[in-house]
Amino acid sequence: MRRLLAAMAASAVLLCGCSPAPKKYSAVYTDVFDTATEFAAYCDSREEFDLYAEALHDELLRLHKIFDIYDEYDGLFNAASLNKTKSGGCPSELIELTKSAVDWYDLSGGKLNIALGSVLSLWHDSRESGIPPAMEDLKPLAEHCDIDDISVEGDIISIKDPQLSLDFGALAKGYAAEKAAELLESVGCADFVLSVGGNVVARGEKPGGSWEIGISSPDGGILTTVKVSDEAVVTSGDYQRYFEYEGVRYHHIIDPQTLMPANLWRSVTVICKSSADADALSTALFCLDEQSGRILAENFGAEALWVSSKGEVIRTEGFEDYEK
Ligand code: ADP
Ligand code: MG
Repeated sequence: MRRLLAAMAASAVLLCGCSPAPKKYSAVYTDVFDTATEFAAYCDSREEFDLYAEALHDELLRLHKIFDIYDEYDGLFNAASLNKTKSGGCPSELIELTKSAVDWYDLSGGKLNIALGSVLSLWHDSRESGIPPAMEDLKPLAEHCDIDDISVEGDIISIKDPQLSLDFGALAKGYAAEKAAELLESVGCADFVLSVGGNVVARGEKPGGSWEIGISSPDGGILTTVKVSDEAVVTSGDYQRYFEYEGVRYHHIIDPQTLMPANLWRSVTVICKSSADADALSTALFCLDEQSGRILAENFGAEALWVSSKGEVIRTEGFEDYEK
């Protein structure tokens, strides 16, 4: 890939003796992480863009399969295999994200818990049926969500509790976007923006300056726009994956303490260098009060914007700098 790109660049220079002004190209994929992925980059030609786009798509598909908790794939021990067998040799990315997720459990005071799989699975079924789960059904499942039952030794992950299952939904897209961005950079793509279901990674610039990323208002439309060049922008919200029952909205981010959808915020947006951190932070902050969220964000050099359940908009001071 790298050699092919270098050859293409060399032949462009030989043919015209100069490089053309880069143009914007874009692509959309709907077959990874159960969401829409958008990729836009400034490139010298469609051929160059297509090579980047293909490499990106292959990488996202590879990572999607590793973190998939619903399906298994031939020749791959993935998250679904681990949930089924409770122990096995895992790909390095599954090891890395599991270790990081265990750290996030502590960092978030237990709010971000990948061991919550059985509780989340009941909520997932409820979204499909449109009827919220009964507390008497949730409570017994909550007995099987102990993060200490997960152990990682070398490339083996083991789950001690046979009824515990893992769910990487809170972190996988941000982690995958980070890995995919690293791959794009390594093959020479310098100026691009990638959104894996709203987990945005921006690198370099567009002609005329930074990339502009619109942040949705939970009630529709654009709340604000931020200008970023080498940052990630990630939002967790109650307005995309939810159902309504008897006039109440039930969304997909569950507070492990109440076993119900977290209800402090409508959305939390995080800007920071690493998209993996931004994804974990946005979910954690969504479950935390403002003060705890501010402390956690600051520890990661991250900026945040909260929309409260009453519609009030709160920002860290540094967030405003991105809005100018
Ligand atoms: P999105 O997936 O919409 O971008 P998030 O990154 O905030 O949003 O992750 C939400 C997903 O994380 C849920 O769909 C579920 O799979 C998982 N999840 C929900 N609540 C928790 C929690 N408290 N701890 C860990 N994972 C969670
Ligand atoms: Mg997240």
